[in-house]
Amino acid sequence: QSALAAIDARRDLNAFLDVDADLTLAQARAADAALAAGQTAGSLAGIPIAHKDVFVTRGWKTTAASKMLEGYVSPFDATVVERLNAAGAVTLGKLNCDEFAMGSSNENSAYGPVLNPWDTRAVPGGSSGGSAAAVAAGLVVGATATDTGGSIRQPAAFCGVSGIKPTYGTVSRYGMIAYGSSLDQAGPIARHARDLVELLDPIMGFDPRDSTSLEHCGDKPNASGRLRDEFDAFVAQAQAKGDKPLQGLRIGIPREFFGTGLDADVAMAVDTALQQFEALGAVRVDISLPRTELSIPAYYVIAPAEASSNLSRYDGVRYGHRADQYTGLAEMTSRSRAEGFGPEVQRRILLGTYVLSHGYYDAYYLQAQKLRRLIADDYQKALGSQCDVIVGPVAPSVAWNLGEKSNDPTAMYLADIFTLSLNLAGLPGVSIPCGFGQGAVNAQRPVGLQIIGNYFDEGRLLGIADAFQ
Ligand code: GLN
Repeated sequence: QSALAAIDARRDLNAFLDVDADLTLAQARAADAALAAGQTAGSLAGIPIAHKDVFVTRGWKTTAASKMLEGYVSPFDATVVERLNAAGAVTLGKLNCDEFAMGSSNENSAYGPVLNPWDTRAVPGGSSGGSAAAVAAGLVVGATATDTGGSIRQPAAFCGVSGIKPTYGTVSRYGMIAYGSSLDQAGPIARHARDLVELLDPIMGFDPRDSTSLEHCGDKPNASGRLRDEFDAFVAQAQAKGDKPLQGLRIGIPREFFGTGLDADVAMAVDTALQQFEALGAVRVDISLPRTELSIPAYYVIAPAEASSNLSRYDGVRYGHRADQYTGLAEMTSRSRAEGFGPEVQRRILLGTYVLSHGYYDAYYLQAQKLRRLIADDYQKALGSQCDVIVGPVAPSVAWNLGEKSNDPTAMYLADIFTLSLNLAGLPGVSIPCGFGQGAVNAQRPVGLQIIGNYFDEGRLLGIADAFQ
């Protein structure tokens, strides 16, 4: 009830798309009743959370922040939702985001932008802006989110909270509305690394309903418990090292993440964080990820290509919006799509259809796939032999003002420079707060630090984040 009241008091943030006190209180009472009946409490019993509106939820509306799915209620729960329910978490509602998770500022929502709780003139980041803002404003303890090209890490950074994009294939995509299927991965946003462990551990694990779900993470089964064990082992080792918990850890600093384009105030906050890492015993290693710049064109070919295919299911026939007036089948579909999809989604569908079309496929899609491989190879060259983890900024700037980039899609895409390459490579990455910008305005706006690891390294990444926090 207090979480519901807090959400109501911050309706100005526009973080929630669906709130239903009856559903929430019924779930909370069921948790109480189970406890009273002496049943064992789940690890998240009674914890107030909320779901990004791209996870389908029984009983709640699921719109992906699109007019196309206005009023849609799914007959089943996404695996992520099912597992959090099973752990006893209480759903406070559905969270605003960019339409079909396409965007970096939450301004592409058909239901209006979310405001950044630190400074309501600023965007909260995107696409999971509602998730980050709801946690930052203290409305929920944690939130689910998805990351196709930074949508967990960048809004977490802009809102001064923590988030993790796990290794591709470790969390089921079943029931998660698809954007770029080979890039999409679910993960939590919360205040602290320890909260991320609590939220991520129960949702990790093999799911036969997702064809890209992994059965194994290295030599261990992909199952809940793995992350918690590895995190606990890291923390125990770190504690044994006394006041130098990160003694011996080699942190790679990619020089391409610190070049032109990085705002001076973000560089300063990240540099202070790096000094703190050294004080904790870590050593810095200069590394190179030479294809960093190419991740933007590669991503903005591959993601729209996959999106154009995934979004073909919204045809006005099976579900979603159907135009009132049409003559014939083709016009019904084209009108329904023209009315249901917002401008950015339409732009991506057109771009994706173009790069996949006969005669252009070799020139764009195939080239982008080759770049994707080279980008992944760069990471493998650095991780392991040169360094243990990679550290750098999440985004080149702090949160920008609402409206500042909304008429310039290219400027918006360029802001994704430090997040996209992980999705192309399938690697895990954590975003944690590391201070604020500088100057009268930016001093109110948080800076995020990104910690990148090799496949299945989530436990170590969160252990490092915990030592830093
Ligand atoms: N900003 C990127 C895009 O618009 C990433 C979005 C995401 O991770 N869902 O595609």
